[in-house]
Amino acid sequence: MTQLSSQRYLSTRGSSSGLSFEDVVLKGLASDGGLFIPEEIPTLPETWESDWRDLSFEDLAFEILSLYISPSEIPSEDLKDIIQRSFATFRHPDRTPLVELDQQRRLYTLELFHGPTFAFKDVALQFLGNLFEYILVRRNKGKEGKDRHRLTVIGATSGDTGSAAIYGLRGKQDVSIFILFPDGRVSPIQQAQMTTVLDANVHCLAVEGSFDDCQAIVKSLFADEDLNSTHNVAAVNSINWARILAQTTYYFYSYFRLTTSPGYQAGSSVRYVVPSGNFGDILAGWFAKRMGLPVEKLIIATNENDILDRFFKSGGHYTKKPVENGKMTNGVKPQDDGVKETYSPAMDILVSSNFERLLWFLAFETETSGSVEDRRAKASESISSWLNQLKTEGGFCVTPAVFEAAQREFESERVSDEQTLETIRNIYTTCSPPNVPAGSARSSQTGGYILDPHSAVGVGASLRSIERNPGTYHISLCTAHSAKFAHAVDLALQGQEGYDFQRDVLPEEFVGLEEKESRVTPVAAELGWQGVREIVKKEVEQELQGLR
Ligand SMILES: *Cc1c(COP(=O)(O)O)cnc(C)c1O
Repeated sequence: MTQLSSQRYLSTRGSSSGLSFEDVVLKGLASDGGLFIPEEIPTLPETWESDWRDLSFEDLAFEILSLYISPSEIPSEDLKDIIQRSFATFRHPDRTPLVELDQQRRLYTLELFHGPTFAFKDVALQFLGNLFEYILVRRNKGKEGKDRHRLTVIGATSGDTGSAAIYGLRGKQDVSIFILFPDGRVSPIQQAQMTTVLDANVHCLAVEGSFDDCQAIVKSLFADEDLNSTHNVAAVNSINWARILAQTTYYFYSYFRLTTSPGYQAGSSVRYVVPSGNFGDILAGWFAKRMGLPVEKLIIATNENDILDRFFKSGGHYTKKPVENGKMTNGVKPQDDGVKETYSPAMDILVSSNFERLLWFLAFETETSGSVEDRRAKASESISSWLNQLKTEGGFCVTPAVFEAAQREFESERVSDEQTLETIRNIYTTCSPPNVPAGSARSSQTGGYILDPHSAVGVGASLRSIERNPGTYHISLCTAHSAKFAHAVDLALQGQEGYDFQRDVLPEEFVGLEEKESRVTPVAAELGWQGVREIVKKEVEQELQGLR
């Protein structure tokens, strides 16, 4: 197998192609509104299974990422170093340990929450932060003062993404990060995780208003030419390609942990079950599968915000609202859009941005005639027209060929709030695995394993799939530590034998966090986005003068 000497990237909507990895990392979103994808999905080296099975997480990440990032762009030694530093912040030596939850049912959990903020987004954002820094340091060699290329990362958060982004970028040279959150509407722990990071380049803004108000301000700032011309505004949201790429590693890593374990029955098939919101996590699994990882099916687990589940249950209708009598309800206005608040808030989305990437590849592959260039152009045309329909009519329907292609690789399950709590309870009372990694949550009295509500959506979906496919191994991704979602966990487990949140769930890192020194800038509603723009300018200026 020859390593791709120059992997190039294109936009799903067709306007740009031939881009380098560095271009797509810094840009995030294509100028036509599309998402960046690799021109080709690399295939695995012939001997991948024997060569890679015993590698550490970091060494495995290097092998996989090297297939997407040309050494002419980032020399191998540098890439290795970036990877090492990104995962050195994880508390567990496996980085993403695999736990045998239920031997009989062949159910495993893949714990993705051993990073600095106790959520799976750390896997991607630790890497992205180091990547930004690396690119900037290289661009700024020999440059001083105003000549240096700087980035101003701005984002809105309803809770989890903010802290993971802050921990990814804290202390990084030539990057300032501003995180807007709705004052009083994120949990005290989530707020403390953000505001107690005192590095000079970290700026938390508590906005008087809702999460939507925060997002509207961020959108206006991104569209503002004045700020962009002076401050290079950048995003770290889940559409950044580097985030997807970093996440492919744990699919491979967990596959090896499973298949090299003594209990594994050779030749049995493996399914991955992924609690999904923006479709970034499971898309990484799809790339792993397409590269050649033997995954039988990927199972999308949604909460009551179920656009992805409805896509699969309705023969390929991707609509903000349920279709009625086989017809889309026309004329859905953005202001009618309702996101449901659930116990798994990090999955509360109306549309899943990264789904566009999958649809592009499926549209490309089901286009059978014409040159590669023609087929690419046709796929991009389909995507553009579908996404336009989503905007103007509230939804679209894919071709039967695309739908069948999606069905070959995916299944979906919707898990309600009630079923989420039931699953937390059910697993707590029936599963006490003997080998639980330090730092995951379980009762020290009964050994009962304690899921967070997002992970419980995944496990709830897994149990249904197991009923239909006994004998198949299921790896269910755990995306957050249960301490972060105390409310739902308490609702599920209060009064159960041996359950004590303070004693068994709360990590020592969280104890006393809310009393620590913190820094936050309040933003009154009447300031509007222009007021926030002035705060951004002022705080960056102070940062540069060393006044923070
Ligand atoms: C972001 C997030 C998800 C959803 O992941 P996507 O990549 O958006 O599908 C699930 N669980 C938790 C805890 C998250 O933070």
